[in-house]
Amino acid sequence: MKIELKEITVRELTESYQDNEENGVVGFGGKLDIRPPYQREFIYKDKQREAVIETITKNFPLNVMYWAVQENGNFEVIDGQQRTISICQYVNGDFAFMFKYFHNLQKDEQEQILNYKLMVYLCSGTDSQKLEWFKTINIAGEKLTNQELRNAVFSGSFVSDAKRYFSKNGCAAYGLGSNYLSGSPIRQEYLETTIDWISKGNIESYMSVHQHEPNANELWLYFQNVISWVKVVFSKYRREMKGLAWGEFYNEFKDKKFDHKKLEEEISKLMQDEDVTSKKGIYEYVLTRKEKHLNIRAFSDNQKRESFERQKGICVKCADEFKLEEMESDHINPWHLGGKTAQENCQMLCKGCNRAKSGK
Ligand SMILES: [Zn+2]
Repeated sequence: MKIELKEITVRELTESYQDNEENGVVGFGGKLDIRPPYQREFIYKDKQREAVIETITKNFPLNVMYWAVQENGNFEVIDGQQRTISICQYVNGDFAFMFKYFHNLQKDEQEQILNYKLMVYLCSGTDSQKLEWFKTINIAGEKLTNQELRNAVFSGSFVSDAKRYFSKNGCAAYGLGSNYLSGSPIRQEYLETTIDWISKGNIESYMSVHQHEPNANELWLYFQNVISWVKVVFSKYRREMKGLAWGEFYNEFKDKKFDHKKLEEEISKLMQDEDVTSKKGIYEYVLTRKEKHLNIRAFSDNQKRESFERQKGICVKCADEFKLEEMESDHINPWHLGGKTAQENCQMLCKGCNRAKSGK
């Protein structure tokens, strides 16, 4: 792991600057990836952009920036992306500052800007060292998401191909899965979610294993399988389906046989059940049969009090007497057998008896 502080002039930074769909934003003689293709769009406001140029024209210092040294000796901006783009755009004549474009300036004014020195930390090391370090420095300013950091650390043919599918507005993954995934492709959330699913939570080890593969076919096929499976098993779409851990469900239940008609009837019934307070959890419940996903409505304080008074503080199980705060409410007839969260179905148990009953 090596971190080296280097002075880079604006002249060096903006040499061979280009911004296009195919290569993204590139500078520093073609050796610096300022913004990889398909990463999020430039979001600096005019005022922020102008503040960067004002800082430089006054020869005040800008905050230090961070570049990662890639395997092939090129660089990628980890922190300072928007400042860098502002500088390049200004020198390129894309916008004016104080009513003057760069080419309107006097020669000595231009030279002053081109000779301005930026402080850049160059960071090289193993992938895991860089990742650890980037996460630590990525605390202020123009924040990268964790997945953007991972893409920088594990840059290569796999990531480039994966971004074609997962990381662009209107990308293929969005077209197929936007009803089922939350987040935004350009913030790398689709890519992150899908790798998280396929790797069962080991995103970084998956990326390091696949870093130099020529393409991301395996990942893309997996994603299509997940979405196809969801559409077959849960044939009717509801908005509660958006953002669920579909890949995790697919991993666990893809080989299980489900009767999708019966499932749909059950889901429809649960959607209407007032005692089911987590409608989103219905899908995980019908797969796992774990009631906790439904967040069954609890008895109100009034209902508890009424039962407590009726029982005169006596626990129904052990027949000892307790204070109200030492007791918990319990469904006499459990919810899964049709018992409702209603006064007539409420009894108070001491905490010990209640936990023994529910097996906690
Ligand atoms: Zn008891």
